[in-house]
Formats: sequence, C-alpha cells, structure tokens
Amino acid sequence: SARRTGDIAHFASEVRSGHRAALARAITLIESRRADHQASARALVQDLLPETGRAIRVGITGSPGVGKSTTIDALGMYLIEQGHKVAVLAVDPSSARTGGSILGDKTRMARLSAEPDAFIRPSPSSGTLGGVAAKTREAMLLCEAAGFDVVLVETVGIGQSETAVCDMTDFFLALMLPGAGDELQGIKKGLVELADMIAINKADGDNIKRANLAAGEYRAALHILTPRSPNWQPPVKTYSAMTGTGIAELWQAILDHRAATTPSGEFDARRREQQVKWMWTLLEDRWKAKLRSDPAIRAKVKSTEAAVAEGSITPTLGADRVAELIG
Ligand code: GDP
Repeated sequence: SARRTGDIAHFASEVRSGHRAALARAITLIESRRADHQASARALVQDLLPETGRAIRVGITGSPGVGKSTTIDALGMYLIEQGHKVAVLAVDPSSARTGGSILGDKTRMARLSAEPDAFIRPSPSSGTLGGVAAKTREAMLLCEAAGFDVVLVETVGIGQSETAVCDMTDFFLALMLPGAGDELQGIKKGLVELADMIAINKADGDNIKRANLAAGEYRAALHILTPRSPNWQPPVKTYSAMTGTGIAELWQAILDHRAATTPSGEFDARRREQQVKWMWTLLEDRWKAKLRSDPAIRAKVKSTEAAVAEGSITPTLGADRVAELIG
C-alpha cells in the first residue's frame, strides 16, 4: 500500500533538511516501477514542489572521451569553493541495455564525490528515453528541495538524449575536442542549435593552438546561424578541465546568460514551456503505454493499423477509432 500521508510529510522534511541519504532514498522511490512506490513518489514531489526551481540547471553534453566527467569534477569543485551545493545527474538511456550507467558514475568524479556539498547520482535505467528523462527531471526537483543550488545534468552526444536534457535545463553546454578533424560535427548534427555555449576542452600543452583554431571555426559557423535567443549569442570558449584554466569563465558565461535572458522574461518563459512540454510528454507516454499494455486494445490497434494500411479506412477514421480506445 502507499505510504501514509504522515510518512510522506516526514520523508519530505528529511529531504528538505538536506539529508543526503533521504535524498538518495527519495530518488530510488521515484525510480521504482511499483505502483505504490509511484503513488508515494508523486505525493512526495508534490509536497516538495514549493522548494523546487531554485537551482541553476545546466545540461552538459559531449562525445565519450571529450572530458565530461573531468569537466564536471573541475566545475563542481570550483562551484563548491564559491559556496554552492552541486548535484550531478545523468540521462543515459543506453544504461538500460548495458546494465550499468557510465554517466554520473562517482568513480569518474573523484574529487567531487568526496565532497559533502556534492551529490552525484547515475542515470536511472528505466528503459525508454522518455522514462529516463522523466525520472531525471523529478530527481532534479528533489535535489533542489534538498538545497542543491546548481544541478548539472550530463548526457552523451546522441541526438534524442541531448534534446531531452536541453528541455530540462536553463543552459545547455556542448563540449568539443580540438583538432579531431571534425570540428564542425556538432553543426551537422544540429547540436549547435541547442547549445547555449560551445566549450572546447583539452586546451592545454600542445593542444592550445588547435583548440584556438577549432574555436575560430565554430565562431564562424555560429555567426551564420540565427541564434535561438534574441538576447544571447552562444559564445565559443576554450578551456582545460585538467588544469582548470577557463573553468571560472565557463561558469561566468552561464551567469551572464541568466543575466541576459532574465529581464525580458525569456529565462522564466523557457522553464514554463519546459513544464508544459513535460506534461504533454507524460500524457503521450501514458497513452502509448495504455495502447500497448492491454492485449484487447493492442489487437484493435493492430487491426485498425492494417485497415489504414490497405486503404479500407482513412487515417482520420483510424485515428478516431484509436482515440476511442484510449477513452
Ligand atoms: P568523458 O568520457 O567525456 O567523461 O571524458 P573523461 O572526463 O573521462 O576524459 C577522457 C580522457 O580525457 C581522460 O583520460 C581524461 O584524463 C582526459 N582529459 C579530460 N579533460 C582533459 C583536459 O582538459 N586536458 C587533457 N589533456 N586531457 C583531458
């Protein structure tokens, strides 16, 4: 049975007080597929809702090896020195298949994981991207309620998961490598349209010159694109996660973005749009789940699909029939 209301209130107050073990348990509750756990999780998130929304939410993407974990370790340590509390989450739908999450792995962030003011949680492995993203979103709300004022959400450089992370964060940071001969890969993939900043890592030692060249190419390419925001031209920076050079500047750009997009209301509008989009994503997921789970409904959907395919009914009539099944 679902937890009693009093239990939820107690649980919520433990999370609110910043109790890390309680936060970890709360996220486990969110990730559970059990119906009673899900009901409790819903009540818990609702209870904590007034304390959410206070963090700066930053999405970080990049191909494997670009230096995501090294960057998060360095940026996280810098932020803690500045008095922040930093939560690190991840969206990695492939972890469901491989049985283990690589992203958000504590061993990859050696310094940060030893910090009492950091909270690192690997990606949930609940199957679909939609499922993983929904759980990460709720985990983010819980982290905010627990007093973490910066949330870093990590993902690997593959299309759909990048969009999902961009849709849950205030600032989307794309990490790139210098001189790999594919400087403009992100542009081809459409990543640059999502990015609020491009940061070229490993700008140290022999790499510095190549990093600057790559930065120039990205700047030129960005110049011909219409920026997503009228108030923000995504900058291109070079830095080194290893030496720490440029880490402070990355954070400053994130603060600058907030300052540049707040007065016009753009910053808050992005969050409002994300909320509504999230609701619709949840609804679509529920509809799809309903259509798939009930064998009788599934059979009717199949036969409707077949009728539409062979042209005996119109797609419009088919849609009407399927809509009726959802109820
Ligand atoms: P991830 O797969 O994106 O998380 O990448 P990692 O953070 O694990 O880094 C991949 C490799 O690049 C590791 O061997 C790091 O030590 C190295 N690396 C990360 N950042 C830097 C950097 O700023 N400079 C140099 N030279 N190497 C780096």
